[in-house]
Amino acid sequence: MPPALEQLRERLGQVHDLHVVAMGLSWDQQVIMPPRGAPGRAEALGTLETLAHERFASEETGALIAAAREELNGADPDGFAASLVRVAARDWEKETKVPVALKAELARAGALGYEAWTKARGASDWGIFRPHLARMVELRREYAACFPEADSAYDALLDDFEPGMRNAEVAEVFRRVRETLVPFLAEIAERADRVDNAFLTGDYPVAAQEALVRRVIAEVGFDPEGWRLDVAVHPFAASLGTQDIRITTRFDDDSFLMAYFSALHETGHGLYEAGSDPSLERTLLSGGVSLGLHESQSRLWENVIGRSRAFCGWALPGLREAFPGPMAGVSEDEFYAAINRVEPGLIRIQADEATYPLHIIIRWELEQAIFDGGLDLADLPEAWNAKYRDYLGLEVPDDAHGVLQDVHWSEGMLGYFPTYLLGNVMAGQIWQRLAGEIPGVEALVAAGDFAPIRAWLTDRLYRHGRIRTPAETLSHAAGGPLDAGPYLDYLTGKFGALYGIS
Ligand code: ZN
Repeated sequence: MPPALEQLRERLGQVHDLHVVAMGLSWDQQVIMPPRGAPGRAEALGTLETLAHERFASEETGALIAAAREELNGADPDGFAASLVRVAARDWEKETKVPVALKAELARAGALGYEAWTKARGASDWGIFRPHLARMVELRREYAACFPEADSAYDALLDDFEPGMRNAEVAEVFRRVRETLVPFLAEIAERADRVDNAFLTGDYPVAAQEALVRRVIAEVGFDPEGWRLDVAVHPFAASLGTQDIRITTRFDDDSFLMAYFSALHETGHGLYEAGSDPSLERTLLSGGVSLGLHESQSRLWENVIGRSRAFCGWALPGLREAFPGPMAGVSEDEFYAAINRVEPGLIRIQADEATYPLHIIIRWELEQAIFDGGLDLADLPEAWNAKYRDYLGLEVPDDAHGVLQDVHWSEGMLGYFPTYLLGNVMAGQIWQRLAGEIPGVEALVAAGDFAPIRAWLTDRLYRHGRIRTPAETLSHAAGGPLDAGPYLDYLTGKFGALYGIS
């Protein structure tokens, strides 16, 4: 009989394979499947999920984890064996603590909720969606109660997306971001007309956009031997292994911004997935360690690098060549200012880099009010609108442009939104450390030499996969625990310079 660790590894490998097949089918569904394939695909994915769950959440797996833990016997806690057992035990406990009936009910409520949300948003009618959200909140409370060791129901939900992080840490970071940004954005609003971005809308042929996007991401790190780029309505990245990275983007025919920045964003996700050490392949240790850290990489490449002055200088000649009409005569400074124009808006996914954090803070604060503040869901739209008024100075005209705009809550993803802003904050920390250790990093970006940046990120972050906990992983990459300081310095420095605010 091989040692328990070997048996555990093989079993986890099989579970991993089932997830890879499901991922491939899901990618296919979003990229090339004809619409009428949806019902059959739902059946196939449901079966795969059941098989993976039965294989993983079984008593045999639990016994193998216990036996493998015995064998560790003082092994290096950051070594492969100890990490495999630790992560497997954590995942196994999370899977087995929740009754199967509750999981099924959550899945059902998510499917119904999504359908109701689509209708509600189309009709801008909160009443259609409200009972579904109420049911989902009730089920999520039951779910959270399966983890009595959590400090609060919200902590239990957050842990699914940002393992080990406590909501008190999020609260402290978000408070600092809000207190800095709300007055800072009010100052920017007084100078809003300093930046012109009219030329960013115009004649941007899709074929030229695609050629340009492919050229740019090839320099950033897209490897045609191990990656694919396709089109999807909602851009995403999927990894079927470190050598099979699928990213997507979307093309608008009057602007290249969506295609260009989505591609950079998803390339960041892809680099993290592709960078796991090959020895972690086909184990649950490969890939990103938390959603926040994953998002730190998409946002690092999209915003911190992709929207920097240096990157703009590097990219502009290619843009002029691709779009000789609208980009003719546009200077590097004009281009940089235009793509960083700050304009408070109602819709999160269209938000600029400076106002984006407030969209997340509003959602997170409302989730707190729902779970801990006793907010009646009948009052949620007005609570939403009041926050948009207070933080962004905007009047919400209807619920489709307000509380009904995001899909997340309909599918039960409560506690998910914070990871987007945590990603920004972590990106700020990681970039500050990287810039301190790679002298002249801006000159490298300006020259299109991204290899040293990739190498640093691979060494400090990507290759470790899930070997360490998320908090340890962040500390190792950023040199300290979660801290809003570097991100706020970055934001106020960048946008203060652009808008003449000292
Ligand atoms: Zn992302």
